[in-house]
Formats: sequence, C-alpha cells, structure tokens
Amino acid sequence: MKNNSFLSAALILILTFTISLPVLAGGGKVKKTKTPKNVILLIGDGMGLAQVYAAYTASCGNLNITTIDQIALVKTNSASDYITDSGAGGTAIACGEKTTNGMIGITPEKVPLTSILKHASARRLSTGIVSTCDVTHATPASFVASAESRKMTEKIAYQYHTSGIDVFIGGGSDHFIRRSDNLNLFDSLQNRNFKVVQTIPAMMEVKSGKMAALLYPEHPPKISEGRGDMLSLSTDKAISLLSQNKKGFFLMIEGSQIDWGGHDNDFEYVVNEVLDFDRAVGIALDFAKKNGETLVIVTADHETGGLANLEGNFTTGHAGGKFITDNHSGIPVPLFAYGPGSHLFKGLIENTEIFVLAMQALGLN
Ligand code: MG
Ligand code: ZN
Repeated sequence: MKNNSFLSAALILILTFTISLPVLAGGGKVKKTKTPKNVILLIGDGMGLAQVYAAYTASCGNLNITTIDQIALVKTNSASDYITDSGAGGTAIACGEKTTNGMIGITPEKVPLTSILKHASARRLSTGIVSTCDVTHATPASFVASAESRKMTEKIAYQYHTSGIDVFIGGGSDHFIRRSDNLNLFDSLQNRNFKVVQTIPAMMEVKSGKMAALLYPEHPPKISEGRGDMLSLSTDKAISLLSQNKKGFFLMIEGSQIDWGGHDNDFEYVVNEVLDFDRAVGIALDFAKKNGETLVIVTADHETGGLANLEGNFTTGHAGGKFITDNHSGIPVPLFAYGPGSHLFKGLIENTEIFVLAMQALGLN
C-alpha cells in the first residue's frame, strides 16, 4: 500500500509538471509564434520537381523558388483517379476536398464547397487571382466557382460576381462579353464597383479598389510568343492593390502554361514558363520579406509529362530531358513555404492539407 501511494504521488507530480508546462508557455514566458495576415499561394500548373529542376539548371542555379527552405511533398490523387486533372487538383487546394476529375469547387456528390478565397472574403480580407490563362480555366475557377464540369466556362465567369473577389487578372474576356445568354458581365462588374480593363497599361493605371483585368479574349500567349512581363506586372499590381487592406489578403497566382508545355512534350516551353512563374515567386518573396506578415506557398496541382532531367550544365545553362506521357502523372509534387506559418508545411501531405494549413495559418478555421 505504501508503495502504491508513493507511486501515486510521483504520478501526480509528473502530471502536474506535464500539464503546467504549456500553461506557463501560454502565460507569455515563451515567445508567441507569429501568424500571417496575408497568404500568397503560387500554383505552377503541372510543375513537378523535374520541371523546377529543369528551370534551376537552365538558370545556372539562380531560381527564387529554390531559395525557400521549408519544403513538403504533396500527394495529388483525386477522389476518382490516381492521376488528377486540374479541376479536381485545384478544388483540393482551394476547398480542401478531393473530388471527381473534371469538377470545379464541388464534392463528388455535387455539393458546392467554400474555397479559402471565399472564406477570406467573408472575414473581410481582400482577395485576388492572377493567371496566365483564361480566368475561367480549371485552376483559377476552383477558387471562385462551383460547377459540375470545368467546361461550363460561362457559368464560371458569372460566378466571379458572387465570389467576393476584389482583383482578378488573366485572359478570357470573351466569356464575359461574348456570351450565349447575351449578358454583358463587364457592365455588371462595373455596377459592382470594379474597374474593368483590357490592356496592361490600363491595368497599371489602377491604383486602388476592385479591378477586373481581362487582358486577352481567350488564353494569353506563351511567354515565347509575346506574353512579355504580363505575369510579373500582374503579380506586382495585385499585391499593391490587395495589400491596401489592413486586415490582410489572400492571393492565388497561377503559372498556367507550365502544364501546356508538358502536354506538348516541349522542354523549352516548360522551362520558359517555369522561369516566368519564378519571377512572380521572386516578387511575392520580396513583398513577404519586407512585409513580415505574409505566408508564401509555392506548389503545383500535379506533374505533367512524366519529365526526367537527363542533361544539364550549371555553367552554360544547358538543360534537357524526356517526357514519358503527354498527360499528367501521379507523382507527388514539391511545396515550398516561406514566412510566418511556413513551419506547418512538412512531410508528405495530401493536396487537401494545403487548404487546411493555409486556413489555420490565417486563423480562418
Ligand atoms: Mg491551370
Ligand atoms: Zn494538364
């Protein structure tokens, strides 16, 4: 009996210490972990590790993405398939649910989901999207719309009104003004206090407020065919508009055409698009470093092309490789995180965890 009561006393002592430690920490003796006010999520569509490394090699090791040291691996399978499409991939990242390939912002049972952009908007954060494709395409659509099929582009364009978004920049003006229902969504956007612009110089003139910049009738051209610095200028403009909100902002930036280079099995196309995307990453990192309250997440929805890096020279920047498919592959993709909250991203995670962790970092859940 005496032994037992000694053990109990020891146990109580141990428990007291164990329980009281976090209480002490909460009482201010331990430095509080900073939480971000802003999240900039950069998605390289189809950008696996091989695509990143191809651009790393071509730039002789001078990539912004690879300066980020908090790294995770992301599983990309969808609810329906081992290999995802960009609809289900975008939905997993935007809304935290795996769905059927081809669907946008809904569950496999067709229940609409609320994206992190909509959650952020509901909490009065400013929100934005920048993409190098038509803004109704699968990846950006996943953050603003719910549709049974990614092909419902007019329905997706219409939902830009109701999503609560403040700034969106990309291509696809035809889906807003040349519609089968004859609606003119430019008029409706202007009625909702959006400045609607169709050229980069006009976009650069906008200094505050809501903005829809639909810079091309359909998709913007490839970087090698004259897109120029559209993505960098758009990234810079979106950050300068959204960061005027003291409560914070959520911004998704997509390097859309890395995927298309993979589908075309065009190594140069892939490298040029990753390098362009990387310049946007650099702008986001520069802002985050000065701002100090911004979490930057760089990742992909899936890999495209099954690319293998077979040739490279870090002095000349020569790089080469081979693709084994003209479609997506199932390999996990890398994720790079910088800034407050970045420590949450580690190990092998599900694509849906990006939503969960980003929501957690912003204190939205
Ligand atoms: Mg995409
Ligand atoms: Zn694709």
